[in-house]
Amino acid sequence: MEHDMFFKLVLIGDSNVGKTSINHRFCEGSFEEIFPWNHLDFKVKAIEMKGKKIKLGIWDTIGSERFVSFSTSYCRHAKGIILVYDVTDEETFDNIEEWLRRIGSQASKDVVKMLVGNKCDLTAQRVVSKERGERLARDHQMIFHEISAKNNVNVDTAFNDLVAAILEKI
Ligand code: GDP
Ligand code: MG
Repeated sequence: MEHDMFFKLVLIGDSNVGKTSINHRFCEGSFEEIFPWNHLDFKVKAIEMKGKKIKLGIWDTIGSERFVSFSTSYCRHAKGIILVYDVTDEETFDNIEEWLRRIGSQASKDVVKMLVGNKCDLTAQRVVSKERGERLARDHQMIFHEISAKNNVNVDTAFNDLVAAILEKI
């Protein structure tokens, strides 16, 4: 498809928070159990916004979840960074600030960041409140959404907000 713009987006966050599932949900429109050793990847999705055809290239980490192996070039030229935690896993939320530090030096200054609390369908297991997510996002000038890749809650909304914010900056 002809497109007017191409934006690189990257998914970041601890292992098992749902990055691959989010990418799959947004780009393929479905949810599947994906095994940890079967990770990719890079997906492309074309969308239209404000009369513009936009192609999104969404990078998903492959085993670079551990801080030590986080590639220094992963975020280079990214227009949007999606930081993901799991609302049922406190540690993944606590690690967001460490991820932000890691990103700090390698992302461009005008990059748009979005914080995403995934697995909001698991209401009984939730340990991170929505308010804490909102506060962390506010402290670091990030867009914020709670989503569920599994039940398709807020996934398109989140990506649309991110792309709209990127468009405003260019
Ligand atoms: P990644 O390591 O961050 O790429 O995470 P995955 O996408 O591989 O997902 C890790 C596990 O969480 C898998 O078992 C998924 O099926 C599950 N998962 C992902 N998203 C959701 C969600 O929105 N709700 C629920 N309940 N489980 C999810
Ligand atoms: Mg994955």
